[in-house]
This record gives sequence, C-alpha cells and structure tokens, in this order.
Amino acid sequence: MIAQLCIAAALAFCPRVAEVDSFPQRAMVNPWIGTIYISRGLARNKDELAFVLAHELGHVHYLPYVKTEAEIDAYAITLIVPLGYDCKRGIEVLRRVKEFERWRLAKEKCTWTKN
Ligand SMILES: [Zn+2]
Repeated sequence: MIAQLCIAAALAFCPRVAEVDSFPQRAMVNPWIGTIYISRGLARNKDELAFVLAHELGHVHYLPYVKTEAEIDAYAITLIVPLGYDCKRGIEVLRRVKEFERWRLAKEKCTWTKN
C-alpha cells in the first residue's frame, strides 16, 4: 500500500513503515530517517490505513512548508480517493483519536472529492 501511495504522491523517495507499540495511538513521519511510525491498532481497516499513511506522506510532500493538520488531511483525501479507498471510512480514525474538528473538515472534503 505504501508503494502505491508513494507513486500517486510522486515523492522523490518512499518512506518505510514501522509499526510501534505506543499509547496514545498515533502516527508520525521522520522524513530524514525516511520512516513512518504508526501505532499498532491505530488503523482498523485498509481505508483508515490509507488515510493515515497518506496524511504522513502529506507532511513529506509539503516539506519544508508548515501546514495545518487539516490541510494535510485534505491532501491525504485527494491522494486516496482516486485510488479507490473509502474516504468517509478512512477518516473515522480521526474520530476515534478525538480529533473531532479535523474529522468534521475531512468529512466535508470527502463529500467534495469524488473519484
Ligand atoms: Zn500530521
């Protein structure tokens, strides 16, 4: 999945994905090491995993610019929807980690982004 997302994102390099045990559950990218870290169990299906990974690739995509988390979410949505992932299902991860405002904005973006 990460290779597919990296191709769609046209990034100069593709980070590897490392599952880690952490609480609270979260994801982050270290572009200098070239690794996305994702908590085990954070993503509960392929749509959520695609959204989380695409979000982290968004941080790489926008380097060195600082973007809001909502802007990065919007980028992630434009990346995963044409690949056939279920947007609304994918963003459910935001609700579970209690990012309700991001979830609300992402839901609007899902509605306007069609494949
Ligand atoms: Zn982020």
